[in-house]
Amino acid sequence: MLNCIFCEISNKKILYENNHMTAIFDEFPVSKGHVLIISRKHYKDWFEIPSNEKYWLNEAIEHCKNIIECEFNPTGFNIGMNCGADAGQTVMHFHCHLIPRYNGDTASPQGGVRGVIPERMSY
Ligand code: 5GP
Ligand code: ZN
Repeated sequence: MLNCIFCEISNKKILYENNHMTAIFDEFPVSKGHVLIISRKHYKDWFEIPSNEKYWLNEAIEHCKNIIECEFNPTGFNIGMNCGADAGQTVMHFHCHLIPRYNGDTASPQGGVRGVIPERMSY
């Protein structure tokens, strides 16, 4: 698609690729080693991806987790997909955030992805 940054990924930036997904490091990482797994076709979000292609997302997550572990030695991960502008999506081409976490990287990590609505993070 024209004017889509994730349709125009330079080969030099590719960390990992399989039949349907490409992985790169996030340009503005939440943490050291933050990876984006991006569909090779322009789907808007996870709900648009055909089920046979979702298999390749799982493959990419597992593969990239191993790469991140070898390189950065994190102690946890958050895996997240923002689907729609109201859910925080800013690039309207499917991508999955694979965010390595480190002991002490934030004062109070309890709740993790619940933090999409910060005041509801803890319970
Ligand atoms: P979203 O908010 O759509 O879920 O996430 C978009 C992500 O893309 C953000 O984490 C942002 O840092 C990342 N990003 C935005 N522009 C670029 C870019 O040009 N290159 C890379 N590698 N990441 C980008
Ligand atoms: Zn695109």
